[in-house]
Amino acid sequence: MTDSAERKMQFLFALRSKGVTDARVLTAMETTDRRDFIPGGVFATRAYEDMPLPIACGQTISQPSVVGLMTQALNPQPRDKVLEVGTGSGYQAAILTRLARRVYTVERHRRLVTEARANFQRLDLTNVTVMLGDGSHGLPEQAPFDRIIVTAAAEDPPGPLLAQLRQGGIMVVPVGQSDTVQRLIKVTRSPHGFEYDELRPVRFVPLVEGLGKD
Ligand code: SAH
Repeated sequence: MTDSAERKMQFLFALRSKGVTDARVLTAMETTDRRDFIPGGVFATRAYEDMPLPIACGQTISQPSVVGLMTQALNPQPRDKVLEVGTGSGYQAAILTRLARRVYTVERHRRLVTEARANFQRLDLTNVTVMLGDGSHGLPEQAPFDRIIVTAAAEDPPGPLLAQLRQGGIMVVPVGQSDTVQRLIKVTRSPHGFEYDELRPVRFVPLVEGLGKD
């Protein structure tokens, strides 16, 4: 077996051992090379390790097992329209493009928007749209969404996002103070209101208001 094939097998094994067992999610992650979303340099060789890594603008590309567990909890379906808040590198969004019909992803740093857009073009991912903006307001012009995933930590699930979730829809969001361990929450919208399930502790960069300066 080649080195890269072996690394990828280990990558999938690590995902499974951390509880990512959904076959569709594993396939989507197998076909989305994390290396494509990590800027060149010292960290490129660590693309297949199960750890967050730094990207531009002081942000991070999330840990693969956390990406897998969040995607599994989100449970996107082939006809779904999905909103992601916090594009970062575009890795999570790229995985979602393989599981849903349409993905909108919002990022507050212009540089990350440009880089993620270039990545999607290079990889020929055409069912994703990246937008510059403060994603805590959601994307009213595209609402409602079947699924919403927030990849930065909010103190509470943002009201505008709850409002833009379709009946029967699911939102996954890390909740808590930014400098501590946060709780990953799954919100399901039913005819009777919102149901909240606490999934696991996580650690994300904070959801910040307004646009970044770069
Ligand atoms: N999903 C990303 C990881 C995101 S890190 C990936 O797969 O690589 C969290 C990202 O959320 C950062 O890029 C940060 O700039 C962005 N972010 C924080 N607050 C935001 C907001 N209010 N609106 C949009 N993006 C935000």
